[in-house]
Amino acid sequence: MRYRSTAKQAPLTSLRGAVLRGLAPDGGLYMPVEIARRSPEELEEFRALPFTEVCYRVVKPFAGPEVPEEILWQVVSEAISFPVKLVSLSPGLHILELFHGPTLAFKDFGARFMARLMGYFVRAETRTLTVLVATSGDTGSAVAHGFLGVPGIRVVILYPSKRISEAQEKQFTTLGENITALEVAGSFDDCQRLVKQAFSDVELNKRAFLTSANSINIGRLLPQMFYHVAAYRQLPVASVPLIVSVPSGNFGNLTAGIFAKRMGLPVARFVASTNANDVVPEYLRSGEFHPRPATATYSNAMDVGSPNNFPRLLDLCRGRLEYVQREIWGHGATDDDTLSAMKSLYERFNYIADPHTAVGVLGWEAYKRAHTEPSQGLVLATAHPAKFADVVKRAIGVAPPLPDRLAAYLQRSKLSVPISSGYDDFKQFLLRH
Ligand SMILES: *Cc1c(COP(=O)(O)O)cnc(C)c1O
Repeated sequence: MRYRSTAKQAPLTSLRGAVLRGLAPDGGLYMPVEIARRSPEELEEFRALPFTEVCYRVVKPFAGPEVPEEILWQVVSEAISFPVKLVSLSPGLHILELFHGPTLAFKDFGARFMARLMGYFVRAETRTLTVLVATSGDTGSAVAHGFLGVPGIRVVILYPSKRISEAQEKQFTTLGENITALEVAGSFDDCQRLVKQAFSDVELNKRAFLTSANSINIGRLLPQMFYHVAAYRQLPVASVPLIVSVPSGNFGNLTAGIFAKRMGLPVARFVASTNANDVVPEYLRSGEFHPRPATATYSNAMDVGSPNNFPRLLDLCRGRLEYVQREIWGHGATDDDTLSAMKSLYERFNYIADPHTAVGVLGWEAYKRAHTEPSQGLVLATAHPAKFADVVKRAIGVAPPLPDRLAAYLQRSKLSVPISSGYDDFKQFLLRH
């Protein structure tokens, strides 16, 4: 498969080129030149085959023949080594739990797959590859764990000081080895800006071999199709249209959902469920896209004021508002609504949701109120509630059970390096280390 840039000014490249570069040289985002529609027979087979086999078949057209079959099989089977669980709260409301991986959030899918793919692509390089990643919470831990100990690669993670939970912070600042965490005096948008600036710094790129691991990297998006297929396998054959509500920040998750739909999965519409950072729901309403500084909320992994996958959404919808609207409906939830939704899910279904998942449920409920025709909802549950224990406790009065994996990290001490939000400091750090 060849990859093209959404900005249309860069040459086509291979998967290796797209994964190692992250951002295209014209500033656009890489997209596969085509997303082949699968036959109904093949989709039917997806229901019956073992999940690893299905993931392999889903990703093969995007990676072959460049990545040999046995390598691709190894990447898929090592990366996707944990289950996707479907919980039906009622006949019309299903929750797809994507948080059963090592860092208890859906980003494990993308990060583990991408880390192994990059490890393969740099196997013959003499220089160390530096992976830069800005995180508002969960990317950091998923990427750090994905790359921990991968030879030839070091990871530098930038995160906004004091704006993420202790549980999130401890999961990626305590690892050491080839993982460095920079604690930035600023917001998540500052972190993203620093990373972007580093990639466009010609001098720096001559002296260092850099790549990104944010959700702009196509290597993270491809494996996110897997769980949309997992939902298709586990849901009863749809008698009413399926609406998929995606708690969204940078919109990588939702973009991958549209990829899966283009492959032929039956999804009537997606709901872009955001918190108060509702730039995309606003765009869907007014046709105007106004990125703005992020606002801090309880669902902090979605505190993004300038969603970086937006060009991909537009590209998938031929740049036309009415096509985007046909594909996606939007809703922005307040923090108060988020707490109420968590409480209500607990009281009605005895279900403990994390704040991001609760935002997803609110998006689905708002959709349902606005559309009277029959439909069923699938909400992507993006994080384990224990990662947001404080918010959960505030909402339902009790703390969620702490998984052993997380408890172990809380005992360890943080090794992060404090840094200002100025570009020069960051550049000096990269050149010194
Ligand atoms: C990253 C993240 C999101 C947002 O995903 P995007 O692909 O950036 O839209 C939602 N929930 C959680 C828990 C996350 O970590």
